[in-house]
Amino acid sequence: MSDEVALAQNARPGEDTIFGKILRKEIPCNFIYEDDLCVAFDDVNPQAPVHYLVIPRKPIPQLSKAADEDELLLGHLLIVARKIAATRKLDQGFRIVINDGPVGAQSVYHVHIHVLSGRQMRWPPG
Ligand code: AMP
Repeated sequence: MSDEVALAQNARPGEDTIFGKILRKEIPCNFIYEDDLCVAFDDVNPQAPVHYLVIPRKPIPQLSKAADEDELLLGHLLIVARKIAATRKLDQGFRIVINDGPVGAQSVYHVHIHVLSGRQMRWPPG
């Protein structure tokens, strides 16, 4: 089992997460984007030359727990991911990933979009 999968298997949805601490500025983090609804920052353990995360300020634990009323917010995260991609000139493309739950290898229970680029992606993902 890889380290990432082991981490995900041990992660549990809870009241607070490291992303909550980042949002409250209890942990230093360099935001590459922020607005009233979300923030974005580079992943501390990048899986590609470009790897950033877009997270809502609202603490939705995972995509499968999102409410129907979160529709606009979740769409906003994708538009922000696209805007940052344009700023970073990812004109050859990128990959969006949302891990959900233990099977999806989610390790931080605050919903987030991974954006990966800068190398050729493969399919299927591991
Ligand atoms: P996931 O496994 O889909 O829940 O993704 C969580 C991601 O958060 C992983 O890619 C981690 O490397 C990343 N991560 C965890 N802590 C931090 C942090 N302090 N700053 C930036 N990224 C982080």
